[in-house]
Amino acid sequence: MTLVPGSTVNLLDFDLDGLTALCESLGEKRFRAIQLFRWIHQRGCSNFDDMSDLAKSLRAKLQGVAHVTSMEVMSQHISADGTIKWLFDVGAGNAIESVFIPEDDRGTLCISTQAGCAMGCRFCSTGHQGFSRNLTTGEIIGQLWFAEHFLRKHLGRDERVISNTVMMGMGEPLQNYSALIPALRMMLDDHGYGLSRRRVTVSTSGLVNKMDLLGLECPVALAVSLHAPNNALRDNLVPLNIKHPLEELMPACVNYLKHAPRDFITIEYCMLDAVNDGDDQARELVQLIKHYGRSVTWCKFNLIPFNPFPASGLRRSKPDRILAFSKILSDAGITTTIRKTRGDDIDAACGQLAGDVVDRTRVAVRIARQRSIDIQSISATIPPNTKI
Ligand code: SAH
Ligand code: SF4
Repeated sequence: MTLVPGSTVNLLDFDLDGLTALCESLGEKRFRAIQLFRWIHQRGCSNFDDMSDLAKSLRAKLQGVAHVTSMEVMSQHISADGTIKWLFDVGAGNAIESVFIPEDDRGTLCISTQAGCAMGCRFCSTGHQGFSRNLTTGEIIGQLWFAEHFLRKHLGRDERVISNTVMMGMGEPLQNYSALIPALRMMLDDHGYGLSRRRVTVSTSGLVNKMDLLGLECPVALAVSLHAPNNALRDNLVPLNIKHPLEELMPACVNYLKHAPRDFITIEYCMLDAVNDGDDQARELVQLIKHYGRSVTWCKFNLIPFNPFPASGLRRSKPDRILAFSKILSDAGITTTIRKTRGDDIDAACGQLAGDVVDRTRVAVRIARQRSIDIQSISATIPPNTKI
């Protein structure tokens, strides 16, 4: 780490090892870095003058070289169900969103990792927007830093409010791997947020090489967005499948179990009316899961009712269809849950996050072109006998 004369660094960008290196470059010992880290992340403090147990000389040094700054909040929406969505300004016309989901026994923050997303999944509002840029470590952890301390203050709580984090906001977390890892380490660090590995979940559309690396370097809980039982349909819904088909993705999931903090991988499956929700497709999924594991218990399914947005041209599966689909998986021994939709009245539900990004990859144009292919041609990739 080198400090550039005349410019200051944002301490939200540093995990504890990074902060230690910074403090050492200022002639300070590691325990000073721990104190500083605790002030920032456990106390939510951004003003060096308030860090009363740091030597005045260190505080003076820090003033000259560093600052603690989170993104500006552009808006806050509170849903009837208590879900809160924040829109953060990340500069140059880009905005990202984070969502807090309160439940009886936990508080979950859904965190964004990129401004937009380059993956272009058909059913995802972020995907339709295109990609602008990766978020920095400070912008990723800044969402937790802001939300945790904002909520503590407003709820009048001294203890932790956010018990779980999920990288399920805007973006593909594993495509921003180098910024993600320090942010995950800060979430796990006992001097930081002290979350257990089981309570930190990375969700991916299937970047297999990075799944392997995550298992080795920072094995948190893993969710994989599957959405289809075969390559033909998945190629269409999740274009990344063309590069990393199921023959690569499924073994990478099973392999992750060697390192995973839980003994299963969560499989996410967005329920799209007459596209991927037929009985035959559920049976095909069971075969797929059986094929790659010794039993079907290596994964748990989370069925997500599709959250519509105008440009998608897709519909949510009917409730009885979702139940029937779920029953086929459950009857085959696969633990299956149906995700409760939260915050949809404020467009904060899965896949509805859209921030506002400058599309530098023309993904939006590509999807618009692809969307002009009639829905029937998607259906053509679905096995025969499937009810459409
Ligand atoms: N890029 C990562 C994480 C962000 S998306 C990934 O794709 O896994 C988080 C989850 O929301 C994914 O499972 C994604 O498939 C799902 N999702 C996206 N759009 C959706 C929509 N419109 N309705 C329901 N779920 C959606
Ligand atoms: Fe990106 Fe995930 Fe949306 Fe696909 S579902 S476009 S990977 S954010």
